[in-house]
Amino acid sequence: MKRKPLREPFDDFCLDFLDGIHRDPACNWCKDPGKPIDRSGLCRHCYRISLEVRRARAMMGRLSQFPQKSPQRIPLELEISNRLQMEQLCRNEGESYGDLHTKDLDGLSLEYDLQLLSQWLLGKRLFRGWASILDHAFSLHQRRFLSYTLSKLIREFSRRHRKSIAMGQVMLKEIHGGLPRVD
Ligand SMILES: [Zn+2]
Repeated sequence: MKRKPLREPFDDFCLDFLDGIHRDPACNWCKDPGKPIDRSGLCRHCYRISLEVRRARAMMGRLSQFPQKSPQRIPLELEISNRLQMEQLCRNEGESYGDLHTKDLDGLSLEYDLQLLSQWLLGKRLFRGWASILDHAFSLHQRRFLSYTLSKLIREFSRRHRKSIAMGQVMLKEIHGGLPRVD
């Protein structure tokens, strides 16, 4: 199938819209262009998590009070891992959705976002195999615009559920080979 040309009439709007949104510096972690940042270079959400991570690092010192494999270590290790994972999730969000106005964004990214949203909304992964359709249905500028639109939903949901999403991932790591060493 022939690829769409890089620019179409609606592209100018997408280009101006996304350039305008990305004019100001964004959060160092999540790179959300819609959130104001403070002197730390972080938005309010990431800053709050950075404080929790700082406390988690202080908690690591307490781990040495307990022998390895002691039952008292488990809740502490889980809490520390959870907070570190929350930071990682914020940074991952920045990788995925930061600077969308300059990303070489293909249909696979859009397919992933649509699948993620349908999983969260319906518990079912719709849009499987849509990458090629999305690639050809929209120009690069339109895909960036669409990705930004979807990212608004994904970011908001992720913010609200950051702690539980992080804990789910920590538990998965625990099942598949134990928690990473935090001390
Ligand atoms: Zn942030």
